[in-house]
Amino acid sequence: RTAVVKEEEQPMNVKEEAMDTEAKEALLEKDRKYVWHHITPHNENPMVVVSGEGSWITDADGNRYLDGMSGLWCVNVGHGRTEIAEAAAQQMKTLAYSTLIQSHVPAIELAAKLNEWLEGEYRIFFSNSGSDANEVAFKIARQYHHQRGKPSKHKFISRHRAYHGNSMGALGATGQAQRKLKYEPLGIGFTHVPPPYCYRCPFGQTKGSCETQCAQAYEDAIMWEGPESVAAIIVEPVITGGGMIVPPDDYLAKLRAICDKHDVLLIVDEVICGFGRSGERFGHHNYGVRPDIVTMAKGLTSAYSPLSATAVSAEMYDSFKTNGADSHFRHVNTFGGNPVSCAVALKNIEILERENLVSRSAYIGKELLSRIETLGEHPNVGEVRIFGSAIGIELVEDKLTKEPAHAATVAAIIAGCKQKGLLIGKNGDTVPGFMNILTLSPPLSTTDDEIAFIADTLLQVFEAGAGEDG
Ligand code: PLP
Repeated sequence: RTAVVKEEEQPMNVKEEAMDTEAKEALLEKDRKYVWHHITPHNENPMVVVSGEGSWITDADGNRYLDGMSGLWCVNVGHGRTEIAEAAAQQMKTLAYSTLIQSHVPAIELAAKLNEWLEGEYRIFFSNSGSDANEVAFKIARQYHHQRGKPSKHKFISRHRAYHGNSMGALGATGQAQRKLKYEPLGIGFTHVPPPYCYRCPFGQTKGSCETQCAQAYEDAIMWEGPESVAAIIVEPVITGGGMIVPPDDYLAKLRAICDKHDVLLIVDEVICGFGRSGERFGHHNYGVRPDIVTMAKGLTSAYSPLSATAVSAEMYDSFKTNGADSHFRHVNTFGGNPVSCAVALKNIEILERENLVSRSAYIGKELLSRIETLGEHPNVGEVRIFGSAIGIELVEDKLTKEPAHAATVAAIIAGCKQKGLLIGKNGDTVPGFMNILTLSPPLSTTDDEIAFIADTLLQVFEAGAGEDG
């Protein structure tokens, strides 16, 4: 792993050897012709990433960047872990594929390990992506109610601003209009309530002196829809991609109580918050709540290989086992629980445990926050929010009116950071004008010097006059 060089000795983002110009141009030519880039107008000149080591990635020009978002909030153990590559190669040589209609060693070991991490008794259904894991959760929730003689319980309630994935059901649960408009109708039976967004409280309340009307909104929605029609509610512990919206401390516990009262299942989407990002093993641990279903992906393998999981409470699983021959879950996918991905996940979790990266995550968040504290005084900073090592900086044009920062202001800060070797994210709502929250979620292995680099870079970029061209 890269030794960290002291800043005074050598800049952290010292350039590496660039790819040969002709070779790079040939690659870009093929990219322009053949690659369909994700969620962006076609990018004619994309950054071609060629390698990664620790918290850093390197592009084809030899520029090194600190990966301040761990890719898409996912490379929790950092890049370039050769022991994960070795575990994958070993498993590929031993058994590259088997279905989970049978079973195989890495899936068995991983399901047991996940139970340890979840601190509860759960059955684990493996799939490929976070979207898949949520689709599985929705189907299991519906079938569960069917098997208990309550087939009318089929609806799901989630929140505006939430993101739960890109497939028709998961997108139905998503609460960001522009992501959905051109693909509707989506999976039906999804309704939404306002998010627990204290900075812009949808209920006109003030943080710390409210009655958690945002939690009550869930109960109201259940009553309006009719409890006999509601299967489950789905929440992330904090809304991450929707702009780092951190709820009041008692919010999740209140949702648990509402679910219990109305025989509604609680699905917690841990796709981002899980595997240490929250500063605990899972985000629901931060709030002392036990979900009926937990979905996970990203940090499960630190994205070294695709894998997701839907953990279902043992009580729920029993109804799939004991309700007669027709009661099994009719769902299979070819790649879900692939032995190589499971072996990767096991090694990834071993690293998280061995290097105490869960508590490191909490430390990274606190340390970063204390180093960028003065940002709160900047005229463009409305609020800084944190959950474990995930940080959101909500940018505004005016602190009093809270007018969201203009796109150019946000873009200028991101570009300023990139120029200095730091990649950060931009999140929020797809409603035009509300993509105004800068996000950071660095690898949980980020070193002290790297924390200082992230904080210093942010402070310098803001000081250099963010918003001047906004
Ligand atoms: N749930 C949450 C909270 C996510 O942030 C994401 C992806 O960013 C998903 C689900 C979907 O995961 P995937 O992209 O692996 O389908």
